[in-house]
Amino acid sequence: MRILTHLATGAIVLAGLVAGFAAPTLAADVSLARIPDCGTPQAPIDVNQRFSDTYAFPGLKLQFVYSCYVIKHGDEYMLWDTGHAMTMPNVAPKVSLVDQLAKINVTPQQIKYVGISHYHADHTGQISSFPKATLLIGTREWDAISAPKPAEGVNYKPFESWIKGDSKVEPLPLGLDKDVFGDGSVIVLRTPGHTPGHSSLLVKLEQMGPVILSGDAVHFRENYDSDGVPAFNYDRAQTVASIERMKKILANLKGTIIIQHDARDIGKLPEFPAFAK
Ligand SMILES: [Zn+2]
Repeated sequence: MRILTHLATGAIVLAGLVAGFAAPTLAADVSLARIPDCGTPQAPIDVNQRFSDTYAFPGLKLQFVYSCYVIKHGDEYMLWDTGHAMTMPNVAPKVSLVDQLAKINVTPQQIKYVGISHYHADHTGQISSFPKATLLIGTREWDAISAPKPAEGVNYKPFESWIKGDSKVEPLPLGLDKDVFGDGSVIVLRTPGHTPGHSSLLVKLEQMGPVILSGDAVHFRENYDSDGVPAFNYDRAQTVASIERMKKILANLKGTIIIQHDARDIGKLPEFPAFAK
């Protein structure tokens, strides 16, 4: 009896050792949610005027939306883009990011990283609410934001804490993706073209599969499908190359694109406060 007990105990200890050995090799749980209010959408717009440099979409009107996201990795949080500022005329969100995060019991202090796709106002408006977060942003975006005289269209003001050096920034070199948590589950992809240092975000979800959050590498489905380029983009060739890259990544990984400004892509993720896993 005593021997049996010892044997049984030994087996349990062995099982525990095996489990203890296997556990660290498993990636952390990763989940993704779309924060519902990152700006108030305007009326549908005629996309042919500014959003195609080849006059590809005569008569096509589309509903654009603003979007930002929260990623949970183990017990760490990351934001991807921060929507419009609460002071923005006409398009300001009705509820701040901080208040929306409070609904899932996440405080600004818990946000470890804020990834910013690019420097436009509709993606950067509320970053000043997260001064404890490390800013992940393309080097060329950061150079534009922190320039002595930022160019028009570069929404540098909310980055004051990072520009002054009170908050941490990690500018991401051109041509290098950033493996945010070091386990390959969340990767900032370099997708220049819309702006010089534009990025998109690849999130590898266990159940839903890989997802790319587009940033403004594309603005709507028709442009993505046809490799279309808005007339106001920084660089046409880079835009086309970035779209090609995203398509190839998603084909190889069997993933899903979420086009951040396209209202038709909202339903690809569950409704907040639910997370896609
Ligand atoms: Zn933009």
